[in-house]
Amino acid sequence: MNQEELFKNIISHSKEYGFIFQSSEIYDGLSAVYDYGQMGAELKKNLRDFWWKSMVQMHQNIVGIDAAIFMHPTTWKASGHVDAFNDPLIDNKDSKKRYRADVLIEEHLAKIMAKADKEVEKAKTRFGEAFDEALYRKTNPRVTEYVAKAEAIENRFKHALEANNLEEVRQIIIDCEIVCPVSGTKNWTEVRQFNLMFSTSMGSVSEEASTIYLRPETAQGIFVNFLNVQKTGRMKIPFGIAQTGKAFRNEIVARQFIFRMREFEQMEMQFFVRPGTEMEWYNYWKETRMKWHRALGFGENKQKFHDHIKLAHYANAACDIEFAFPFGFKELEGIHSRTDYDLKKHEEYSGKKLQYFDPELNQGYVPYVVETSIGLDRLFLAVLSESYKEETLEDGSSRVVLSIPFPLAPVKVAVLPLVNKDGLAEKAEEIVDMLKYDFRVSTEAKDAIGKRYRRNDAIGTPYCVTVDYDTMADGTVTLRHRDTMAQERVKIDDLRQILLKDLHMSTLLKKC
Ligand code: ATP
Repeated sequence: MNQEELFKNIISHSKEYGFIFQSSEIYDGLSAVYDYGQMGAELKKNLRDFWWKSMVQMHQNIVGIDAAIFMHPTTWKASGHVDAFNDPLIDNKDSKKRYRADVLIEEHLAKIMAKADKEVEKAKTRFGEAFDEALYRKTNPRVTEYVAKAEAIENRFKHALEANNLEEVRQIIIDCEIVCPVSGTKNWTEVRQFNLMFSTSMGSVSEEASTIYLRPETAQGIFVNFLNVQKTGRMKIPFGIAQTGKAFRNEIVARQFIFRMREFEQMEMQFFVRPGTEMEWYNYWKETRMKWHRALGFGENKQKFHDHIKLAHYANAACDIEFAFPFGFKELEGIHSRTDYDLKKHEEYSGKKLQYFDPELNQGYVPYVVETSIGLDRLFLAVLSESYKEETLEDGSSRVVLSIPFPLAPVKVAVLPLVNKDGLAEKAEEIVDMLKYDFRVSTEAKDAIGKRYRRNDAIGTPYCVTVDYDTMADGTVTLRHRDTMAQERVKIDDLRQILLKDLHMSTLLKKC
């Protein structure tokens, strides 16, 4: 099965088992807006908890807030979003499809670099053990030619973006002979800037109404509360403020399922530091966040850093953590050293001082900020696509299993009476009542036990507990493991302790 088929199967699986539905589906849906179903909401909540606990609970110097989605409109003037939160868009006149010009160029660059990598791979098989990859990359004429070509385009693109020269961006697309993936033609319109913020109006009478925005990022809610939290929480630098919540962007090209949505959820943390120490903290958070991703256990080749070509006007260092989605490596999280840009801008626009008095230096200053920002929905997609497996079993039958890391699974334990008579279902209920204080537990008596196991595999339930006639006689149950399908006999009295050991969030947090 190729990656495209796999991705399609993941999308239909997530609908079939109540993870994700298209928004307002009965009205034919709303483009790039999705609803989380009964399983999806649980998985999403667990992912959010994992992030929150690793940030707030595990760090004495990080606190969490929950700011409103609506903010004073001047916030977005100060942050630069009103004037500069734009994407350069371009249309193909034949297919009438709209693209982000920067994405077209970046994909073209990735294709050139893939050619260089292919040369290296070929040489690796040819030379075997003796192959010196670094030397080959430096000296092989074909590889160096590809790299030089990519670098030249990259530089031209960077300069065009910095100068906001949209004609030049279009010229790069034409010179690189980039074609529309749908029509296959090079018949491009001009490049235009398009603001991504959604606006609405506040106030019931139209004359009183003023335009306000749905926040395009959660970060500004943290910046404007910086002094409130610092003062009331008696926070000492360095310290962080974390927040999770909805953000809204009128994305030009919204596709790839929940990867790019118009309404999505962010999990952000701004870390306030003494000016001059920001690179140290930037590196600290790069490492810490990568370790967090690796704790999910998907393998080291699934995530990589990608340094930004063009730094945003407010940043002095920035990178992404990219994840190997079924459609390739793409941004999952951004880590940015944002300097004192945002706080200074809010000082300027509000006329209020946003300074910290540093008792060690006996001096006040506007702190520098290192930010980590991850999309919850993208994380959901990463976990779902890594966990989804179609397996052929020894007896020739097949199953779909979601091998979601145990503490994140939507349902942790399914308690299943073998048959729905002779008091077995009542016994199962008793076990549910015992476990429900610690775990999300389900029980169902309908259908053959094998079918019920399969249904639980398909939603990623780590353990099934089967109640049979022996249970009634000796107080033991069968514990079935999701990944290995191995079964063991355990005492009901030991069940809670056995399950806690594997299912508790602490098992993940200890790996971060
Ligand atoms: P992209 O380049 O993919 O548009 P970005 O660099 O604009 O993303 P940031 O502004 O850094 O993204 O936002 C931080 C995180 O929020 C991203 O790493 C991503 O996980 C998430 N995110 C951003 N836009 C969307 C979206 N439209 N849908 C889902 N998640 C998003």
